[in-house]
Amino acid sequence: MEYIYQYDVAAIIIAFAVTVGFITQNNTHTKISRAFFVVSSLVLISSVSDLITIIFIKSPELIPLWFNYLLNGIYILTFNMIPGAYCGLIIIASNEFEKRGIIYKLLLSIPFAIICIFIITSPWTKLIYYFDENQIYTHGKLFNILYVNAIFYVTICFIQTSLHKEILTSDERSTFYFYLIASVIAILVQAVFQRLLIIGFITSITSLLLYLSLENPANFQDKEMGVYNRHAFFSALDNNFNKNKRFKIIGVKIIGLSYLNETIGLENNQQIIKQIGKKFVMAWNKHYVYRLSGTRVAIIIPDNENTMNHVISRIESAFSEPYKIGDIKISISCKLAYINCPDDTNETDDVMDLLDVSLREIEKESEFVIHADTKLMEKSRRENLVRNVLKSALEKKEFFVVYQPIYSLKEKRYTTAEALVRLNTEEIGFIGPDEFIPIAEQNGMILQIGEFVFKTVCEFIKKNKIWELGINHIHVNLSAIQCMQRNLYEQLLKIMDSYELDYNFINLEVTETAMIVSSDILKSNMEKLIEKGINFSLDDFGTGFSNTESLITYPFHTVKIDKTMVNDALENKKAKNILQHSIAMLKELKMEVIAEGIEKQEQIIELEQMNCDLIQGYYYSKPRKSEDFLEFIK
Ligand code: C2E
Ligand code: CA
Ligand code: CA
Repeated sequence: MEYIYQYDVAAIIIAFAVTVGFITQNNTHTKISRAFFVVSSLVLISSVSDLITIIFIKSPELIPLWFNYLLNGIYILTFNMIPGAYCGLIIIASNEFEKRGIIYKLLLSIPFAIICIFIITSPWTKLIYYFDENQIYTHGKLFNILYVNAIFYVTICFIQTSLHKEILTSDERSTFYFYLIASVIAILVQAVFQRLLIIGFITSITSLLLYLSLENPANFQDKEMGVYNRHAFFSALDNNFNKNKRFKIIGVKIIGLSYLNETIGLENNQQIIKQIGKKFVMAWNKHYVYRLSGTRVAIIIPDNENTMNHVISRIESAFSEPYKIGDIKISISCKLAYINCPDDTNETDDVMDLLDVSLREIEKESEFVIHADTKLMEKSRRENLVRNVLKSALEKKEFFVVYQPIYSLKEKRYTTAEALVRLNTEEIGFIGPDEFIPIAEQNGMILQIGEFVFKTVCEFIKKNKIWELGINHIHVNLSAIQCMQRNLYEQLLKIMDSYELDYNFINLEVTETAMIVSSDILKSNMEKLIEKGINFSLDDFGTGFSNTESLITYPFHTVKIDKTMVNDALENKKAKNILQHSIAMLKELKMEVIAEGIEKQEQIIELEQMNCDLIQGYYYSKPRKSEDFLEFIK
């Protein structure tokens, strides 16, 4: 039989190039890359041995018979391992390997094992292949079982690929589908035209495509910073956890980058990011530095205190030097959190949550580095729990609104109140707004919550005719996220219209954060609403950075002085002076002043002397449910 071997030569060249490319370029030692290495080596060995066997099948007299058996054995064995190896690769790429039990893995390996036994014993059993008495290579009775084996694994590959479409990247999917379709065609073609050695060619082309889609180093790199990316971090974590390695992760939050973006321009900013990347690479081996997001980086180091302290101090000193852009020197700082794996956690998802919580936490702290320990893990678990509970809370009607009366020192009675949202859940009971509002702001749920509160308050005002009780208006809090909505004013006016409510029954409270994140939109919303008669309060005065600036820029009617400022005034002369002059200044600006969080009578005496208008605090009343509030006012 004359074989057409040109395809095999092409297959060898391709398989060789892929294997060499993989060995020289790859440095992410993941499970998937190891599986890929198995596939590409099998492809290379089988195409080389294929070509060699063709030569010696034609001229068997050149080598001893046992050697010819051996060569053919190697070829048939490696060749028939390829579909099974692909199958394993797809299972790993679709993250199914860990999830599947031992039974599944065993069942999948059985056909493979049987085939191997048949092939290895063939020189004696003559079931798959043998050399006849004239030393002519002949297919055995069970040769076609090899095609059955290939079709079995190709089918499993197909099912696996279709079941996990969303986990695989589009490149991976196309490559796997290409492999499936092309190999079915090749198997059929080769079954009919046995001299056309085309299957090897198809498998080597597939391994090339796979190399480009799975192992393409660009998929694992963050070009901007010149380090590895999030994708590579996940792979490295999986790999370390699977091998039960002990290691540490240092998470880094880079502070000041987003601000720079706006001030020094994109190009300069990119240059700085490159420089930052270099500093991390100098602090530790570049193969273990990963950029997780715009301002977050993770570094994996061995489980060794000395190494960690060494890396941390290198990062600290690298960041203490300013960056130079032309003549400008720019300082960027960072904060760190470390995790001990597997002691603190042995799951990739938990690592990400823990990094998230700890890097947010450390930004508020004065330390440079913290241990992301069990306490923070609990915090992150609790956050996830609250996040889940929030999803169904609106539907389950678990939110409600309470009202805290506000006392007028001038009129000696309650003239207004602040509406405060409450959440009592079936699953985990009562959750305070300080806990759930930041979470609802992260996922945008705050918009629906804000709308619910606003509607509830409008209905409350209308239904109970609160003006008849001497309550002039109700204060409603707006989150910074609500203030970022261009159509906020329309939405609020529409709700008030639906209750046929006068606009001056509402006073909206915003904090400084809203001004920082949405200055222009907030201002235009404010102007449109004020024009209609809705007043605004500046909340938490005295806790931010540029209160006086906000007073000049935004048309506030009322200022609410934060409880910390009032508390400090009782204990400290300087603070008392500041409070006194702040109130005097606000009064001079013709603003209404409310002092918040008042619990003691001495505070009220002082505030009255300072000419404060209104008082809100537990001294008068805690926030009350609507019925209770109405009773209280009456
Ligand atoms: P805030 O706007 O500064 O509200 C005042 C907070 O101080 C309320 O806490 C109130 O119960 C509490 N408070 C009042 N008097 C005293 C006192 O004498 N002593 C002490 N220690 N605290 C007092 P609450 O209800 O837990 O709300 C916390 C924060 O959650 C609010 O701070 C506000 O920022 C946010 N929040 C509450 N309800 C809403 C809402 O409907 N929408 C939005 N966006 N945020 C809300
Ligand atoms: Ca408030
Ligand atoms: Ca406040």
